Amino acid sequence: MYCINCGVKLEDTEKKCPLCGTVPFHPEIVREEGERLYPENKYPRREVSPKLAHIIISTMYLIGLIIPLLCDLQINSRVTWSGYVVGALILSYVVMILPYWFKRPNPVIFVPCGFAAAGLYLWYINYAVNGDWFLSFAFPVVGAAGVVVTAVVTLVKYVRRGKLYIFGGASLLLGVLMPVLELLVNITFARPRFVFWSLYPLTALVLLGAMLIFLAICRPARESMERKFFI
Ligand SMILES: [Zn+2]
Repeated sequence: MYCINCGVKLEDTEKKCPLCGTVPFHPEIVREEGERLYPENKYPRREVSPKLAHIIISTMYLIGLIIPLLCDLQINSRVTWSGYVVGALILSYVVMILPYWFKRPNPVIFVPCGFAAAGLYLWYINYAVNGDWFLSFAFPVVGAAGVVVTAVVTLVKYVRRGKLYIFGGASLLLGVLMPVLELLVNITFARPRFVFWSLYPLTALVLLGAMLIFLAICRPARESMERKFFI
């Protein structure tokens, strides 16, 4: 008997091709358990246990937190520069490592968590440098970006259709937020209160959003675009 997929010779008792895994089937051959023609794989691929990897990475993060903190306390007797290091490490941990503690990390939960961590880090910097830009600038910007990205991620995950509407809408919304962002910058840093540079991203994002929504509405245009993009 030969494998119908790769042609390797099989013993009649073989339940599965040892080379490609194809299950052989012949109605007249009754297959029973028996000796295999091929030896067992002596060197099976071994994978690193994800749990152990997480524990090692987390320990390294912890060491990375503690050492600068101790040095800083030893030298300055209070938290100065190490605060930024610790904040940055916590932020990168929340964004990159924390989701993978879970088997199937849900972006609808972890995306807002990442934005919240970024907001907290900025709040800490603002506090550490005695700034007054957090409430009038960093918080609204990070908050708005967080809400838009979370909304897109949620819609893409739970709504099966209408991706063009989702991305088009998000693009329009981001475009409209641009002048608001510039105004916030101007107010926070005491600049003249009119908008200038934000009109460029506004135009680009609104055009992109309008195009995506047009494609979502107009089926012939969408099909013609698909033919052009996918050969
Ligand atoms: Zn085979």
